[in-house]
Amino acid sequence: MPDRLRRLDGPESAPPRVLVVGGGVAALETVLALRANAGMRVEVELIAPHRELRYPPLDVVEPFGLAPPRLALADALAPLGVRHRLDAVADVDALGHWVRTAEGAVLRYEALVLAVGARPVRPLAGALVFGDPRSREEFARLLAGAEVGRVERLLFAVPAGVRWPLPLYELAVMTARRLQGRARVSLATTERAPLELFGGRASGRLLEYLERLGIAFLPAARLVRARPGEALLEPGSRVVRADRVVTLPLLRGPAIVGVPRDADGFVPVDAHGAVRGVADLYAAGDATDYPIKQGGLATQQADAIAEAIAARAGAPLTPAPFRPVLRGMLVTSEQPQYLEADVAGGSGSRTADVPLWWPPLKVAGRHLAPFLTERFGARLPTMEPDERWLEGAIPCEITLPVPEPTSAPAVRAS
Ligand SMILES: Cc1cc2nc3c(=O)[nH]c(=O)nc-3n(C[C@H](O)[C@H](O)[C@H](O)COP(=O)(O)OP(=O)(O)OC[C@H]3O[C@@H](n4cnc5c(N)ncnc54)[C@H](O)[C@@H]3O)c2cc1C
Repeated sequence: MPDRLRRLDGPESAPPRVLVVGGGVAALETVLALRANAGMRVEVELIAPHRELRYPPLDVVEPFGLAPPRLALADALAPLGVRHRLDAVADVDALGHWVRTAEGAVLRYEALVLAVGARPVRPLAGALVFGDPRSREEFARLLAGAEVGRVERLLFAVPAGVRWPLPLYELAVMTARRLQGRARVSLATTERAPLELFGGRASGRLLEYLERLGIAFLPAARLVRARPGEALLEPGSRVVRADRVVTLPLLRGPAIVGVPRDADGFVPVDAHGAVRGVADLYAAGDATDYPIKQGGLATQQADAIAEAIAARAGAPLTPAPFRPVLRGMLVTSEQPQYLEADVAGGSGSRTADVPLWWPPLKVAGRHLAPFLTERFGARLPTMEPDERWLEGAIPCEITLPVPEPTSAPAVRAS
C-alpha cells in the first residue's frame, strides 16, 4: 500500500484533507464510504457546481410526466460534517497537491478524488440525443406529437461505442406503452440480443417483452445516418423508415488540466481507483477508463477508493479492490419481473420474483442506496418517483471481469 496520509501543512495532529470533486453518485458514495470507513480520521470537502445530487437514471421518466425526487447536496452532507463548496475544479497541480477552482480559490489536499463524470458527445447529426434537460423537453414534445398522430414511426438506436444502452431500452418500452400502437416503435442496437451484457436468459426474457409490446427489435445494426423520414443502418445499408431517431450520446473523458488521460480523455486508474503514475490522486465513475459507464459501477469504484484512503489514514482495514458487479433495473411500468444474469465463470441466468439487491434502487451503491432510502423515508422507499416506477422493473445482475492491472496506457497530463 502507498504511504500513510499525513497533513502536509498546519498542525501534524490535524486530519488529512480529502477533496472530493463532483456532485453525482460517485462523489456522494465516496463521501459516505469515507465516513463509514475512516470516520473523522479525514477532513472531507465536496466541490460541485450545482446544488442538487446528479442522478441521471431517473431522467428517463421526466418526459413521461413523472418528477424524480431531488436531493440538496448541502443538506445531505451537513450531518456528515462535510462541506459542499459550490464551485468547479479548473486545474490540478498534482505535485504541489492543490487545485484551482473556477472561482479562483486555491485548495490544498492530501488526497484528491475526481468524480467529475464524462462529457457527452453527439454521435451523429440528425438524431435526438437523449441526455441534457433540453433534449428531454424535445423528447417530451416528440411524445406529445406521436400521441396525436403527428409522428408515425420512431426509431430508438444505440450508437456503436455505448456500453450501457439500458436507458434507450427504457425509453423505447415506455414510449410503446404510452402510445399503445399509435406509432410504430423500433429499437436498433449493435448488440446481438437485447441487453446482451446480462447474458442469454435475461436477453431472451427481454426480447419476448419487446415483442409483446410490438417493438421491432433490430439487432447487430449500427446507425450511420439519421434524417427526417429515414435512418441508415449498417451492415447491409438497410434503410429504415423513421420520422425521428432517438439515440444516446457517446462519452468522452473530462480532460481536466493537470490530470492524466487516455486517448479518449478518460483518467487511467488501477483497481483501487488510484490514478496511474500520480501520488494521492484518485478517480471514480464515468470519468475513468473503465469501459462501462454505469452508476452502480461508479459507486463500487468509489468504495474501493474510500477504503484505500481510509487505510492510509490509519483505519484498521485492508482495502478491497474494485470488483465490478453490474446491476441493472429496466423500467417498464408493468408487473415486476426480476432477472439475474450470467455471473462471470457461471452459467445461465435466473429469474426471481424478489429484488436481487436491497434497497432496490437504480444505482445500487452500498452506502448511497440505503442513505437515499433513509432520506426519503416512507414517502420514497426506493428513491423512485412513485410506485408506478417499481412496478415492472426488471433488475439484472452480472459480475464482470476485474479490470486489467497495469498495462501502462498512453497517458498525458496537460
Ligand atoms: C439517461 C441515463 C440513464 C441511466 N440509467 C442508469 C441506470 O439505470 N443505472 C445505472 O447504474 N446507471 C445509469 N446511468 C449511468 C449513470 O447515470 C452514470 O454512470 C453515473 O451518473 C456516473 O456517475 P458519476 O458520478 O461518475 O458522474 P456524473 O453523474 O456525470 O456526475 C459528475 C458530477 O461531476 C460534476 N463536475 C463535472 N466537472 C466538474 C468540475 N470540473 N468540478 C466539479 N464538479 C464537476 C458534475 O456537475 C456532476 O455533478 C444512466 C445514465 C443516463 C444518462
